[in-house]
Amino acid sequence: MGAPLIGVLALQGAFREHQRALEACGASTRLVRLPEDLEGLDGLVIPGGESTTMIALMRRMGLLEPVREAVERGLPTLGTCAGMIVLARRITDGLPDQESLAALDITVRRNGYGRQVDSFETELEVRDLEGGPFPGVFIRAPLVLDPGNAQVLASHQGRPVAVRQGRVMALAFHPELSGDLRLHREFLELVEGARAA
Ligand code: GLN
Repeated sequence: MGAPLIGVLALQGAFREHQRALEACGASTRLVRLPEDLEGLDGLVIPGGESTTMIALMRRMGLLEPVREAVERGLPTLGTCAGMIVLARRITDGLPDQESLAALDITVRRNGYGRQVDSFETELEVRDLEGGPFPGVFIRAPLVLDPGNAQVLASHQGRPVAVRQGRVMALAFHPELSGDLRLHREFLELVEGARAA
């Protein structure tokens, strides 16, 4: 098997940084802007940015349903920050009737860390991650009110900030801005597991 091909949703937000991080880990990448860009992917990253805009653009580009189906069929997917919101089943403080992919059984509150701490950096203990704490860069991050059936991989002040359910991983923070590639590698391991299955 050659390098895995990871799609990075590139409608808006921090997609270039994810692309760079994935390539630094040895993956091939493709920017996803159209439904046909999903063809043949081994994994998908939904970046940070602005979740309401991202979802509106996904709908406009005809990507919402194809992405939903691909994730449902088991495409390994990593969502960060806004990407976590896009994947969440329940969203509070979004737009009325904010749509989502509903791929992760979590409840999130948009911008849930409040104004004073709207951006911050903190060290996170991530389950089974070797090499010490992970630098968590939070920017107007979603607050996970309830992880539902998702497995919690890391918490901050008693709230989940990294979760996984099956082949879907979501982080409330921005690993692509931290200069630490360990969580991208972790995701690529999940991708390799799915390819080998
Ligand atoms: N607050 C943004 C949203 O609601 C997420 C911020 C981010 O991705 N850095 O989508």
